[in-house]
Amino acid sequence: MDPVIVVGAGPVGLTAALALRSYGLPVTLLEADPQDRTRPGSRALFVHRSSLRLLETASPGLGRELAGHGVVWRTRRTLYGGREVYRRTYPASPPGELPPFTSLRQVETERHLLGAAKAAGVRIVWGAPVTGAESSGDGVTLHAGGEPFRARYVVAADGARSGVRRALGIGMQGDRAEGFHVVVDVEDDKAADTREFHYEHPAMGGRNVLRVPFAGGFQVDLQCHDGDDPDRFAGAEQARRWLPRVVGPGYEDAILWVSKYHYLQVLADAFADPYHRVLLAGEAAHLFPPFGARGMNSGMADADAAAVAVVAALAATNPARAAEAVERYGRDRRAAAVHNSAAVGSALKHLKPSRADLLRHRAAARLAPVAPRFGDWLEHAPYGPRSGPTGNPHGKY
Ligand SMILES: Cc1cc2nc3c(=O)[nH]c(=O)nc-3n(C[C@H](O)[C@H](O)[C@H](O)COP(=O)(O)OP(=O)(O)OC[C@H]3O[C@@H](n4cnc5c(N)ncnc54)[C@H](O)[C@@H]3O)c2cc1C
Repeated sequence: MDPVIVVGAGPVGLTAALALRSYGLPVTLLEADPQDRTRPGSRALFVHRSSLRLLETASPGLGRELAGHGVVWRTRRTLYGGREVYRRTYPASPPGELPPFTSLRQVETERHLLGAAKAAGVRIVWGAPVTGAESSGDGVTLHAGGEPFRARYVVAADGARSGVRRALGIGMQGDRAEGFHVVVDVEDDKAADTREFHYEHPAMGGRNVLRVPFAGGFQVDLQCHDGDDPDRFAGAEQARRWLPRVVGPGYEDAILWVSKYHYLQVLADAFADPYHRVLLAGEAAHLFPPFGARGMNSGMADADAAAVAVVAALAATNPARAAEAVERYGRDRRAAAVHNSAAVGSALKHLKPSRADLLRHRAAARLAPVAPRFGDWLEHAPYGPRSGPTGNPHGKY
């Protein structure tokens, strides 16, 4: 029997595998996809400093490697109806320190994580979709590709449709907001240093638009109005039509990826099974919208905490202590996810204001040139409370 198996080679599963290896444990990782898979689009761009730090600890050099391949934008701008209401340029990080964040496509982040996992000796079994899981007081049996795998502990990081979570009968509860966002990744070799948020973009019929740089390009996030027809905005052809109104001409043929998403606040009923043998992590346990960058970053924090809990459980001198370590993981990381979910809720309330709140936003935009605190509020509120995307209320975002 393996001491621990990780399910899912996404960013969270790979982080869990690296963290477990850093404690000297042998790790088997089961991944449904074949080794030569193509991962879809860029998805998460923003890797927070706390994530870089934990990766640096799990695999010395990895946090710096990611920082070296990503970009840090130093200027943040917010505009209301085309008029600037906030602009601030932050100083560069002192040389040698990890930056406050780095921005690169998730496919790139995963490439570096996978390289590190292979170098660390993680045994990856590709083409092994887990279709069944049974846990007991002794351990866990997973069924993957017709073969049983036994482990004392399992970290399930098999994403939003988690087969492990479903096999164990753990439900997911939450809401999906009405309306949708469209994200477009655009290739651009000009180094961009500014993240821009537009309230009521005048060229987009008053829809909100976010523009975020990443290494080798930028991402545009268009918040459609409730009732908008996806056929008008979502899809490559549609993006080719509206993109020039937001970023100017010349980028129509540089579109790398287009996707549509809904605002989600969904949590698993429990982050561990009743036998304290399976630990859910990342999107297997919670779904948040991309705004605020809480998905992958909080998933990496789950992965790190799951590794600590498994190590403690394996070293425990009696079963009660072992169960306590896993229980603590489930309690703490679910509390972090509840915190993130509330943060996402307050961001959504801001992004979809009531009539009265909309008047407040517009008044704040008018006052911002003479009273900068209003511009400051308009700059920060779309991403939720400044409490860190990992769910750690003490980490600044
Ligand atoms: C447009 C967009 C932008 C985003 N931006 C950000 C951002 O800026 N910052 C941020 O933090 N987050 C962001 N996110 C969220 C982020 O992409 C996800 O949170 C992240 O991918 C979750 O990682 P994961 O490892 O939990 O799941 P996944 O990435 O879904 O990985 C799950 C893995 O498990 C495998 N798998 C699935 N089922 C099984 C099975 N039964 N057996 C074995 N293996 C299985 C899958 O093949 C996959 O390899 C964004 C998402 C989107 C869509």
